[in-house]
Amino acid sequence: MKIGIDLGGTKTEAILLGHDNRLIKKIRTSTPVGQGYRSILNNIKTMVDELENQTSQRCTIGVGTPGSIDKHTNLIKYSNTVCLNDRPLRADLEVLFERPVRIENDANCFALSEAVDGSGKNHKTVFGIIMGTGCGGGIVVNKTIMHGPNGMSGEWGHTVLDPRGHACYCGLHGCIETYLSGPALIKHFRQHGGTPVSRVEEILEQAENNVAAATTMLDHYYTTFARAISQLVKILDPDIIVLGGGLSNIETLYTTAVKRINNFFAHPVSVNLVKNTHGDSSGVRGAAFLWDQK
Ligand SMILES: [Zn+2]
Repeated sequence: MKIGIDLGGTKTEAILLGHDNRLIKKIRTSTPVGQGYRSILNNIKTMVDELENQTSQRCTIGVGTPGSIDKHTNLIKYSNTVCLNDRPLRADLEVLFERPVRIENDANCFALSEAVDGSGKNHKTVFGIIMGTGCGGGIVVNKTIMHGPNGMSGEWGHTVLDPRGHACYCGLHGCIETYLSGPALIKHFRQHGGTPVSRVEEILEQAENNVAAATTMLDHYYTTFARAISQLVKILDPDIIVLGGGLSNIETLYTTAVKRINNFFAHPVSVNLVKNTHGDSSGVRGAAFLWDQK
């Protein structure tokens, strides 16, 4: 049996999957970020123990989390849960659980879940995108996650659209994430005359009511999204692009925005852009599937 853990900055989810990937149990806790690294490890241990108590078997453990593991030092880097950075998370979990543990970037887990039995299941090359608090990507070819020699495969969210753009936490300016993430959309809305809002849904509601600041903001957003996708198509041209994260619920991305991709090509292209199948569960499912990878 398999256990998958989605270690996020605010919540930690864990699932136990049985044969045929049938869901046996799912639990969710808040991530004790304020209490530090050791507390995060202990929280994961408590959750895994609870799931393993459901079965007499020793399970495989896969973990998905933002950031990546440095190939040379085996330490976590680029995590927005900053207390994980420069920590040997995998090694520490392996000591805790007395077995090998696999760890992957959360967007890679999302892409794997959708490629195995979600929206990308009938396609060879799947690009998974998470657009929410941040903007991540993952490439899965023939149900296998691509990493590359630098572990940077799929890091689409931190490719630069405009070097004169806003500062990004990664150290660059004008990354795709600084335009397409939820916080970016809310910030730009305010800067361009919108009322203060705390959720993207409020901007969508205002656009439906033809509030000018909201319709203009969304118009810009669609064009930027289309430009960012066009770059992805020019480099990888995946068979399918699966959107996840909170912003994947903007239905006009699949209609209005996707049509604009052709504004960035001299000759028409056909881009297969779809919504995810497994919703919020994609990341934790992908983490559980990590031990199916060769
Ligand atoms: Zn960046």
